[in-house]
Parts: sequence; structure tokens; C-alpha cells
Amino acid sequence: MNEARSVEVCIAGGGPAGMVLGYLLGRCGISTLVLESGGDFDRDFRGDTLHAGVLEIFQSIGLAGEILELPHHKIRSLSAGGTTLVNFKILDTDFPFVTMMAQSIFLSFLAEKSREFPSYKIEMDASVRELVQNEAGAVKGVRYRKNGEMVEVAAGLVVACDGRGSHLRKEAGLELEPVTDLLEVLWFRLPRDESDQQYGRSGAITGGRLPFIVLERTDHYQIACVIKPGTFSEIRKEGICAFHEEIGRAAPQLESRAVETLKTWKDIAFLHVEGGRLAKWHGPGLLLIGDAAHVMTPVGGVGINYAIWDAVETANVIVPVLKNGEKIDENSLGEIQRRREPATRRMQTIQRVAGRKLLEIVSSELGQPFQIPRILRWMLTFPGIRSIPPKLIALGGKRTRCEVKSYFQKG
Ligand SMILES: Cc1cc2nc3c(=O)[nH]c(=O)nc-3n(C[C@H](O)[C@H](O)[C@H](O)COP(=O)(O)OP(=O)(O)OC[C@H]3O[C@@H](n4cnc5c(N)ncnc54)[C@H](O)[C@@H]3O)c2cc1C
Repeated sequence: MNEARSVEVCIAGGGPAGMVLGYLLGRCGISTLVLESGGDFDRDFRGDTLHAGVLEIFQSIGLAGEILELPHHKIRSLSAGGTTLVNFKILDTDFPFVTMMAQSIFLSFLAEKSREFPSYKIEMDASVRELVQNEAGAVKGVRYRKNGEMVEVAAGLVVACDGRGSHLRKEAGLELEPVTDLLEVLWFRLPRDESDQQYGRSGAITGGRLPFIVLERTDHYQIACVIKPGTFSEIRKEGICAFHEEIGRAAPQLESRAVETLKTWKDIAFLHVEGGRLAKWHGPGLLLIGDAAHVMTPVGGVGINYAIWDAVETANVIVPVLKNGEKIDENSLGEIQRRREPATRRMQTIQRVAGRKLLEIVSSELGQPFQIPRILRWMLTFPGIRSIPPKLIALGGKRTRCEVKSYFQKG
């Protein structure tokens, strides 16, 4: 075991929550170590959406321009069954769209920017294995595996940003309460053609038994197909050709591309997703944020943004305390949960209701085409009601702001 180093904040996990928190702390001159188990930031099947609420934050700290110069694709509305459910264009923001940007590009950009700060360090291929605790159970640091060796680092605060399967959550003996039903999803990509006017929109489509959620990307579609839990083996038995035909029933133009692209079931990822939440996001010396504290499902494509808003509120609360030369106590950690939990609860409730609707559709014998109830279509004609879904998805309800700019070190 190597001799223990010491930092003010140690962040376990370099996903959206960990990388944004690391960036803000580094820019404020807080000694920060980010430990990421992956060798790079290449992520698949975890979504790639950045909404207006996070772009506004990046704008306020001078990063939005550079982020929007990175390769991305903009989505301006989401529809279901031909009805526009969420129109981002009506938002009062400089960013009335969803930015679809590969996480590898976004997270590598943040890593590159953060490395400019002398107080910031990131280690890749560094898998956090254990919490270091004192006799009273307070967290004092972590042990992580790097190059086959265990390394110890002491930290004033450990922030677990290690995602939905959080190892540190288990290490701390914390258990998620389930808040949504289990969804089973088939996830794949199909090439996109610039001339695809008819399907060049994002949203839900169905024509046969299964609903497909289609997200438009620069040169491909990212497609999620929600299935009835427990039926994947039956779908596989019907054969990949039957699945191509199912895609064709929803979007005839995509069937030949499915035949060319999805040659075997290996070309399709099978994912289980269940939303959950911790009752308490912290303990002495330990805070959990992002999916480690509250697992978000893909419904609404918001989890990355909720993780980033958690990171920003974490910086808002802890930077002034650390800059004052004080220790982070449980009151401060509780304040972070108080600031973030209401919005998270609200969105997880929406995910539960929307997830149940999807399950109803896939569980019905014949499969039903998406039909937005007439009452909802009528309600969406009122501007006040029409603005609720884009505000909830794009801004998280109430806007989160970065409050630590006055601590940024002069570069
Ligand atoms: C199928 C699917 C589709 C989704 N689609 C979308 C979408 O379109 N838009 C959206 O906003 N959200 C989407 N989400 C939700 C979103 O992916 C998560 O909410 C979001 O990534 C959470 O960010 P995070 O930083 O908390 O965790 P993560 O993004 O999971 O990052 C955790 C990081 O910790 C690292 N790590 C794990 N264990 C350790 C360890 N022991 N030591 C060190 N590092 C570790 C991992 O390698 C990873 O980099 C989707 C989720 C799923 C499952």
C-alpha cells in the first residue's frame, strides 16, 4: 500500500456529476482529486443530453461557447404519436433546444479544462474500493486500486459520484428505496440520412406491438425500445428478422437500415433500469450525489442534468465553508440534499408515471399505438400548460445557478 496523500475533497467517479464538481472545485482553488475507474470517458447507453438549464450555468461561467463548438446535434421538440408534447422553442432561454453530445466528448472537454487548475488532479483507471473510516464511523478518505496496487488518500470530504451501481453506497451500508417500476429496454443505433424528413424528429413512435423512442443524433438515431419485463427471451426466439419487421411497422423507412445494421442480438444492448433514491444522501465525511444518491431512468432524458445540478449545488454549499477554513459538517451536507431533493423527487414521480404508461402499452395483448388522450391534447393548447413540460425537463423546474464565481482563481 502506498503512503496516504491528503486532499480537501476526493470525488469517486468521473461521470457528469463528478467531472462538473471537480471542475468547479478546481477553479475555486480547492485541492481536489477525481478518481475514475474507466481508462477513458467513452460511455455508451447512458444518454448524451445537455439541457438549457445546464447550458445556462456553463454560459454563466464562460464555457457554453466552447461546449457548443464541440460536435453535437440539437433537438427542438419531443413528440409522441404525432403530437408535440415538449416544445423547447417556447422556453425563455438562449438555449431553446436539447444538445445531444457524446459523453466522451463532453467529459473529456471538462477534464482538459480542469487539468489547467493547479489544485485539481484526476486519475483514470483508478477504481475506488473502500472507504477509510475512523472508529466512530466518520469517513476520512478512500482506498482505490491503480495499476494492481491499493492506494490510500485522506480527504476532508469524500463525494460519491459513482453512478447507479455505486460501490461507495454499498460500502457505506446505504440502500436505495425503489421509486419507479423496473423497465427493460433494448437500446441500439441506426444510421441517419440527411434526407430523413419524415423521421427527422425525436420522440416516441409505434406501429406494431412495441414502442420505440427515437432520438436524432448527428449521423445516426439512438433508439430505445421498451419491452414487457421478462419477455426478452421470447422476443429473441422470434428472431432478429421479426424485430426488423417490428421496426418497419413503426418506421418503414428504417427497416432496411435495421436489416443492414442489426445483424445479430449482439448489436442490441439489453438494459434493466429502475429508479431509486436514498433517504439520506450523506453521513459524516461522505456525500452522495447524482445517480449514486438517486438513480434516474432514461424517461425524459434528464439524469445527466440532474447530476450536474447536484454538482453545482454541492459546490455552492461547500466552497464558502472550505474557503472560510472550516470543516464540512453534516449540516452543510444536509443543506445540499435539501436544495436538490424536491426537484429530484418531482422528476422521479414523473418518470414513474410515464414509465407505467409505457409498461401498460407493452403489456397489452395487441399493443396500442401511442395516443395522447384528447383531454391532454386540449390542455396543451393553453400556453401556460404547454410551457410546463419543457420547463421541467430543460430547467429542472426552478433554475439552479452557480454561486461560487467570486471564488474563481485568476488564471
Ligand atoms: C439506458 C439509459 C439511458 C439514459 N439516457 C439518458 C439521457 O438521454 N439523458 C440523460 O440526461 N440521462 C440519461 N440517463 C440517465 C443518466 O445516464 C444518469 O442519470 C447520469 O449519467 C448520472 O450521472 P452520474 O455522474 O451521477 O453517474 P454516471 O454517469 O453513472 O457516472 C459514474 C462514473 O463513476 C465511475 N465509477 C463507477 N464506479 C467507480 C468506482 N468504484 N471508482 C471510480 N469510478 C467509478 C463510472 O465509470 C462513471 O464514469 C440514462 C440512463 C440509462 C440507464
